[in-house]
Amino acid sequence: MKRIAVTEINQCSGCRMCEMICSFVHTGQFQPHKSFIKIYKIEDKGLDIPVIGKDCDLCEGEGYPQCVRYCPAVALRVVDTPPGEEHILDRIRIQSERRAIEIAKASSRRGGA
Ligand code: SF4
Ligand code: SF4
Repeated sequence: MKRIAVTEINQCSGCRMCEMICSFVHTGQFQPHKSFIKIYKIEDKGLDIPVIGKDCDLCEGEGYPQCVRYCPAVALRVVDTPPGEEHILDRIRIQSERRAIEIAKASSRRGGA
């Protein structure tokens, strides 16, 4: 099974092109809040963390994952999930998203850099 992975956490520039293109693929409009990939901004660390949601279908019908295609920083890639390990990766994905949300909220409370 294939999935989208983040190539390198420091590589994301936070441009949000992936959110734009993902929403366009699924709604026909640029509506980043409807994207299956979310960028969490950690203001005081200057970090942007992409988190791929459970609804990502790898742009089924498009021929290739469009967020990977259009990411200008090459921060995303397609990887193979080893057979039988999908549930582990799903758990990691949920934990990563929770952690990214917690850090981003804490960062915004501190008022950023
Ligand atoms: S993952 Fe790529 S397209 Fe998305 S915000 Fe980061 S640099 Fe931009
Ligand atoms: S692969 Fe397609 S559906 Fe999945 S996050 Fe990227 S753009 Fe969205």
